[in-house]
Amino acid sequence: MRAGREGAGAQGRGEKGGDGGGAHLPPFGRPDPPVNPLLALPIEFVGSFPDPLVRLDPPLPEVALIGRSNVGKSSLVNALVGRPGLARVSGTPGKTTLLNAFRLPSLYLVDLPGYGFARAGKAARAGYRRLIMRYLGERSTLAGVVWLLDVRHPPSRDDGEIQELLIASGRPVLAVLTKADKLTRSARAVRARELASALGLRDDQVQLTSSSSGQGIAELGQSILAIGERP
Ligand code: GDP
Repeated sequence: MRAGREGAGAQGRGEKGGDGGGAHLPPFGRPDPPVNPLLALPIEFVGSFPDPLVRLDPPLPEVALIGRSNVGKSSLVNALVGRPGLARVSGTPGKTTLLNAFRLPSLYLVDLPGYGFARAGKAARAGYRRLIMRYLGERSTLAGVVWLLDVRHPPSRDDGEIQELLIASGRPVLAVLTKADKLTRSARAVRARELASALGLRDDQVQLTSSSSGQGIAELGQSILAIGERP
């Protein structure tokens, strides 16, 4: 609504003044928008693995992505690396229990299986928990974890269980709030603060993103590269 009126006003001024010669005020200048460094890098799919302690060759630091099924993880990976279709965007989530590894020059991105699949039975849930516990607890090359949460929903019981595993592992965590485009701008900021507080995270540990609009993707790419390069 407001954007529409502003647009019409700008057009009106243009019509009245023509090109106006020197009528335009010089711009003050704005900082350049952040650039996603991952877009300039080669990336390859290494493989899918059932073993949380699989050895990847060459050994490099790795950054894991974890989140509830349908949270938007595949879409985010595709947006991050600028390769639609690299990670599968799925309509039937939660079927896989494999780790998918992608290699960048200086690190691996490891896409962990989604959790909280509604139809998963008790045994499958216990198996998932064991897999993630071992991965988070024992993987010496793990530099940090990107934890995806849908910005629209309060943390679920499954999110709470993952949070406990993350805390126990002591790994650096960045919480990424997905699908920001589904909320108004003001609601996004409110939800981000609420979720940060509910999860006991500092505001700078929370990144709003949208794979649809591109919001926050460049900043996330920068954070991933930086954590992978930490000594
Ligand atoms: P995954 O199961 O976590 O890998 O989730 P997907 O990437 O397969 O996405 C699940 C659904 O959410 C799909 O229908 C996507 O199109 C949709 N989705 C993912 N990211 C976004 C986003 O940023 N904005 C919107 N509006 N929809 C999204």
